[in-house]
Amino acid sequence: MGCKGQLIVISGPSGAGKGTVCKSLLQKNDFWISVSATTRSPRNDEIDGVNYYFITKDKFLEKIETEDFLEYAEVYGNYYGTPKSEVLKVLDSGRDVILEIDIQGALMVKKSYPNGLFIFILPPSMEELKNRITNRGSETPESLITRFTSAHNEISFVSKYDYAVVNDTVDSACKKIESIVIAERCRVDRMNGVFLKEENINE
Ligand code: 5GP
Repeated sequence: MGCKGQLIVISGPSGAGKGTVCKSLLQKNDFWISVSATTRSPRNDEIDGVNYYFITKDKFLEKIETEDFLEYAEVYGNYYGTPKSEVLKVLDSGRDVILEIDIQGALMVKKSYPNGLFIFILPPSMEELKNRITNRGSETPESLITRFTSAHNEISFVSKYDYAVVNDTVDSACKKIESIVIAERCRVDRMNGVFLKEENINE
């Protein structure tokens, strides 16, 4: 019907399980996930160009200057940003795009792209959030404390989002997100009056 893809912005505190939920969504749907650029060092299992584009701070600052990012933010002392041109190209092709980004970045996207779908993932409880971050084993004791503290602050931003999804199990969280995306696709205001044209009614 010539509609653009939906921009699906997913945020949530560290340990809410955003990464796992997004991975599962990608396995079951034709979503495209944006690969961010970051100045953070790769973790053991991370691959450049797959998990992130790992770049230097100088390069990152240069890309800010040349307006290459749809949004960017400093998170836990490192820069993270979404490459703009790739995302816009995929949306134009009609495919839905997922951005898994932090709250500051999401709020920046909301200003330039208010039609985006803003989804906040919550852990089932703060206790469970703590267990998940600790069991991940990739954080230093200092970064664990930073992430716990910011998690509390981050959760207060849920009201800025369109939808809140509790990640009790990955399967149910995915089902909820898939349902939100389907419902959103049926919104009359997303269809640009396409049903007013007779030739489109039987499509
Ligand atoms: P991590 O270092 O654990 O991979 O990510 C830390 C935080 O940065 C997460 O909340 C993640 O969602 C966020 N993040 C990842 N990529 C981007 C991005 O391109 N922009 C913004 N604003 N945040 C990002």
